[in-house]
Amino acid sequence: MVLPDLSLIIDSLRADSIEPKLYPEAAGWKDSSSGGFLAPGEKLVDVVSRDYHVLESLGASYEEMADMASRVLKHEDAKCVPHVVKLGFWSRLFGKSVVESVKSVELYDSARFTSTLMSSMGQQSCPWGCTRDVFGYSPYGSVEVLIRWKLNGEDTFPSLLSDYTDVMMKSLEGGSPIETWFEKNGVMFGGNRRVLYLSSYLIVTDLTPHLIATHHFFEGDACYRTDPTRLAEVIRSKK
Ligand SMILES: [Zn+2]
Repeated sequence: MVLPDLSLIIDSLRADSIEPKLYPEAAGWKDSSSGGFLAPGEKLVDVVSRDYHVLESLGASYEEMADMASRVLKHEDAKCVPHVVKLGFWSRLFGKSVVESVKSVELYDSARFTSTLMSSMGQQSCPWGCTRDVFGYSPYGSVEVLIRWKLNGEDTFPSLLSDYTDVMMKSLEGGSPIETWFEKNGVMFGGNRRVLYLSSYLIVTDLTPHLIATHHFFEGDACYRTDPTRLAEVIRSKK
């Protein structure tokens, strides 16, 4: 596994012009993300450099990591769309269409992880302005996969998320505003998306494979970071 030279990657980032677009609700970009690609104050070059060294220690290339993210998305798609296979022989024998459900093969250890697919309103474009991707990935995002960690084999919904839901319901009924709860729990930006991010073990969006393969970017500690160590752990968890 050979990674490109880090200085070449940093040059390709065009950090001076791109970085301002990566913060939550960035001004001056019509397609800015409310959750952001970087946390306020994070630096693009620092985040990319740090993850470069993570990939070195994982022994994985950017292409391999993008492929792992893509497999997570395909796996979730397969769970949503039932697989049907028309069996020609049986169809001819019985004179009717015969379908068989094919159980999709689990991508990761389902005793340790559980996942949810969520759609976002609208579409998020690539901050670098790409309209196509040489690797075949989408330069636009609209869904995210949240992978949660199971404790003792149970999908114990993270306490942060259940606490948030509780407060949100009370807020709708006229209780203290949800913003107060955000502040109390240190959710200073990104609102609901930040809560989902903090309560998940791993997040993969359909923009993630493109960002990794083309821009060497896993995102910062904002709302949609795909932590490379966790991504490799989840994929490699399947025995
Ligand atoms: Zn791009």
